[in-house]
Amino acid sequence: QLDNVSPAIHLLPPQLANQIAAGEVVERPASVVKELLENSIDAKADSIHIEIDQGGHKRILIRDTGSGISKDQLELALSRHATSKIYNLDDLECITSMGFRGEALASISSVSRLSLTSHPEAQSEAWQAQTQGMDMAVTLSPAAHPIGTSIEVLDLFFNTPARRKFLRAQKTEFQHIEQVVRRIALGHPNIAFTLKHNGKLIFKWGAGTLEQRVAAVCSPNFLTYSTRIDYRHEQISLSGWCSCIGQGWQTNDQQYIFVNQRMIKDKLVLHALRQAYEGMLADNQYPGYVLFLNLPAQDMDINVHPAKHEVRFHQARKVHDVIFQAVSQALLLAQAKQEQAQHD
Ligand code: ADP
Ligand code: MG
Repeated sequence: QLDNVSPAIHLLPPQLANQIAAGEVVERPASVVKELLENSIDAKADSIHIEIDQGGHKRILIRDTGSGISKDQLELALSRHATSKIYNLDDLECITSMGFRGEALASISSVSRLSLTSHPEAQSEAWQAQTQGMDMAVTLSPAAHPIGTSIEVLDLFFNTPARRKFLRAQKTEFQHIEQVVRRIALGHPNIAFTLKHNGKLIFKWGAGTLEQRVAAVCSPNFLTYSTRIDYRHEQISLSGWCSCIGQGWQTNDQQYIFVNQRMIKDKLVLHALRQAYEGMLADNQYPGYVLFLNLPAQDMDINVHPAKHEVRFHQARKVHDVIFQAVSQALLLAQAKQEQAQHD
């Protein structure tokens, strides 16, 4: 008889609601790194320092030179649906920042022991907010910190055993982290990056030109075997470098596509590239590319996936054609130039 009684509906406690959201945003240590780096970029940092211990299971520290968070906003920054980046629906239609959901810090802090230390320029000293992951309680204390922000994430998933089980060996998790940092660094050559793992320096890249950053991040010969693309059609542009005809790679890891500076995996874009490269490389070769597609923010929707891996283009056909045209043209032009040079 009890079976017919419907259970009472109740609101979930914030901690649990955040942990559920974390299931979508924080898949593994690399997703934490991605979210934190995007926050540093949105804060206009010109330098970002990353320290990882034990593949990120133990510790992730990101320190930036960005605008900082004032003392009275630290607690808010850690709560869900709290953001400084959008105000209304119009803003959502036209996203220009990396973040906008106001979920990352709340999600991460619900599944780790997190401390957020910040020193905005307008404040005379730094303050630190700490959470223990047990409830959403925050403690504030004064701290020492240069202008900017540090976020330290300890013991990721310590309170969510189901998630913790999916963590792979430190080496694997670190590879994912390194890949995320490389991608983001490629999209932001004007920011200096350092990455350390277990106290060892993995790389240190100063701010510089895009070409310098590509040379640092991609295979050492990447630029030698690539041709430059600089194409524009109405409001859509595609620029960067891609493998010349017959000069592909043995692996498919030299492939980077950015849409409005955001690294994404998009089927439509990949399809256009595959089509442009059809018959251009040996069967066992992959093209390499670093391509930046830019279009007005209101011509696409980034609010498709919690981790923002996907976009929707309002004029999908047009975007596809621009990419296909731009790459095909660049490949043929590069070949013609090469033949001319051999002829001379
Ligand atoms: P979102 O990035 O979607 O706004 P987050 O949870 O990632 O949501 O961050 C919440 C807010 O905290 C941001 O809107 C921003 O105001 C502030 N914030 C987070 N990280 C930083 C940082 N490194 N520097 C300055 N402000 C930050
Ligand atoms: Mg964010």
